[in-house]
Amino acid sequence: MVQRRKQMAKEFSFPVFKTKIEGLSQPFALEDPVERRKYFELKAGKEIEKIREYLERGNFLAILLGPKNSGKGTYSKLFAEAIGGDRIRHISVGDIVRDVHAGFKDKKEEEKLAAFLRTRYRGALPLNQAIDALLGRSTSSLLPTELILALIEYEISKDEKKAIFVDGFPRSMDQISYSIYFRELMGYQDNPDFFVFIDVPETIIGERMKYRVVCPRCHAPRNLKLLRTKEIGYDKEKDEFYLMCDDPQCGHARMSVKEGDDLGIEAIRERIEADKAVMQTLLKMEGVPKVYLRNAIPVAEAAQAVDAYELTPSYEYTYDAREGKVRVKEIPWVVPDEDGVPSYSLLPATVVTGLIKQVPGALGI
Ligand SMILES: [Zn+2]
Repeated sequence: MVQRRKQMAKEFSFPVFKTKIEGLSQPFALEDPVERRKYFELKAGKEIEKIREYLERGNFLAILLGPKNSGKGTYSKLFAEAIGGDRIRHISVGDIVRDVHAGFKDKKEEEKLAAFLRTRYRGALPLNQAIDALLGRSTSSLLPTELILALIEYEISKDEKKAIFVDGFPRSMDQISYSIYFRELMGYQDNPDFFVFIDVPETIIGERMKYRVVCPRCHAPRNLKLLRTKEIGYDKEKDEFYLMCDDPQCGHARMSVKEGDDLGIEAIRERIEADKAVMQTLLKMEGVPKVYLRNAIPVAEAAQAVDAYELTPSYEYTYDAREGKVRVKEIPWVVPDEDGVPSYSLLPATVVTGLIKQVPGALGI
């Protein structure tokens, strides 16, 4: 019990990043790309300009660090959207491994990758055994780091050299040293690199997982509590509410919870602890510039630091039996963080504003 409580205590504490500009609080609909563009220009126009200018002549390598499901992919995609153009890439190690599985069905792709690995892979494990491990044919479930490195290098080589956000590396303590020399290993030694740390309370990750639903037809993800569809259904027998897919082709399909998600964060406990250990170690590393992002903000500090429309709302449903209709109420989403401090979760665009504002400093521009 004691150990459990220790685990739950807040392990990081990053400063609250102020995105509020006095006198400029008119709301933006942050789920809309056009509105988002205007929002980014207002909140971080100067930094966006600096980064755009920089990318005309330079690249960078950023390593995203945060627990599983902390929004790493979303943040780098929104960053690229805000800066515009196609000078930024998001490289996800998880996606690369999945793509290799799919790619191996294609003989040509397989040969291309095999040829690359034959020249670039170095390691104690023979290449054919390393590939067996990659394809899950081996009993060892963890892929050798040397193979992961070669796969990332292969992915980078597929396109012209761009600024990149890497997500999914380092994954474990034995990959820490590789990550501080990562830019050298990937041929980015003439470009700046930096770490991006993401602090998200476990309670927020857990709630997001618990209410996550997907459409059985098109697999679009939504969240019963945090990201609703237009139409909500009510199941009288089970006395529960459900979302109906917005895509007209899905014919109001009832969205359902993915297996395992109802267990919340405990289903990925081991992964979360490993990710946190990596973060804690890298937080202490000197020499690599650091950017700090936080997803949550104490309710008591919110009015000072952010605008109301930058906070994640939540939805509450009631069934009006007389009218046969579901009523929806939007309310602020308040979650206790690991220390029990009531907190709001910032919308992804707001977290990314904090990222944009810190990147010029990390690049030394
Ligand atoms: Zn659908």
